[in-house]
Amino acid sequence: MDFAWTPDERRMRTAAVAFARERLAFDLVSLDARGDFNQEGWQRLASFGAAGFPIPRRYGGSELSLSVTAHALEGLGYACADNGLLFALGAHLWACTLPILLFGNEAQRERYLPALARGKRLGGHAMTEPEAGSDVAALQTTATRKGDTYVLQGRKAFVTNGPVADVLIVFATVDPSRGREGLTAFIVEKGLPGLHIEPTGPRMGMRTASLGELRFESCELPVSSRLGEEGAGLTLFSQMMEYERGLVLAPALGAMERTMERCIRRARERQQFGKSIGGFQAISTKLVEMKLRLETARGLVYRFAWLKQQGRSAMFEASLVKLHVSESWVQTSMDAVQLHGGLGYLTETELEREVRDALGSRIFSGTSELQRELVARSMGL
Ligand SMILES: Cc1cc2nc3c(=O)[nH]c(=O)nc-3n(C[C@H](O)[C@H](O)[C@H](O)COP(=O)(O)OP(=O)(O)OC[C@H]3O[C@@H](n4cnc5c(N)ncnc54)[C@H](O)[C@@H]3O)c2cc1C
Repeated sequence: MDFAWTPDERRMRTAAVAFARERLAFDLVSLDARGDFNQEGWQRLASFGAAGFPIPRRYGGSELSLSVTAHALEGLGYACADNGLLFALGAHLWACTLPILLFGNEAQRERYLPALARGKRLGGHAMTEPEAGSDVAALQTTATRKGDTYVLQGRKAFVTNGPVADVLIVFATVDPSRGREGLTAFIVEKGLPGLHIEPTGPRMGMRTASLGELRFESCELPVSSRLGEEGAGLTLFSQMMEYERGLVLAPALGAMERTMERCIRRARERQQFGKSIGGFQAISTKLVEMKLRLETARGLVYRFAWLKQQGRSAMFEASLVKLHVSESWVQTSMDAVQLHGGLGYLTETELEREVRDALGSRIFSGTSELQRELVARSMGL
């Protein structure tokens, strides 16, 4: 067992931190208040190669291994406080770009990957529907085969990047009577006639990532837009969720470290009752717990990346990562507000935004409750 970071991991994390310090420092109080997608941030991330971190060079990507990608994302999260922007990057990478690499045929890879991996086009995925959230197999959007086309009819909700995405992986059933066996994935491009996209209303956090609702009204898609086989949608979705759950929160490792360091500084400097508040055990314990959560979260993320690099299945580990990193991020962010007292409660201190951003991570990519269910099942319960 070797826990040392490789030279590539170290180099990419350092490069990501330097890049984010220089190019990804935004006025987040006003960006967050406006709730707009950080388009400029996206262009800059693309110039760094982030939109194609794990994608092979022949498709326009940076060809980083998953563990080097995880280190780079952690570095971005450490030095860039725009969690929404990095969440948009995660949705683009894990729920659209990588699945096209893994499950697309050569024609689909060549058609979509170069622009996605260079960040010239933005990706996302649409599984959730108003009546099908955790229970994805209950989806109602239909894809009816008509000659050389499928006709899509239905609605999708909570689509990250939806209003600004150019390419979306959309799940629908080719035959509702087949239940989960009917689920099928499609690649849908912006501008498809009959596809209506509306931004979701105001929301708690991750506001610089765009969120939208889709409506498909008799949208005709060529058969060549199908991703994988008919009926393979659920398997494909679980496999892409394995990567998403394992890696979408890699930037949160950096965010937790950034918050923890800020709290350590505050605990040293803030004097009450004649001494620094870090001298009170109630405060130092919070910091120790932050450190413990950070290191355990790191261990789980890096082990997940390592397992996938060995070509091994890591469904169970992906659920553990998702559950632990999201819950850790929420707890660390809330403790940071508490440790800063009244100042932590102010918008300008930018700690309350961290709580709002972190809370979404307990819901997207499968809720914490669902991850506990999945872990329990894999333990034979
Ligand atoms: C910021 C954000 C971004 C998102 N991005 C996307 C996206 O890009 N694409 C996409 O398709 N979806 C996306 N989603 C949707 C997300 O995947 C769903 O919200 C999530 O799967 C939960 O579904 P739901 O909201 O319908 O809640 P429900 O499934 O109705 O769940 C409600 C409550 O019941 C609990 N519950 C449900 N089933 C069980 C069970 N079996 N055991 C225990 N508890 C259970 C849940 O944990 C939750 O607490 C996003 C959501 C958010 C908040």
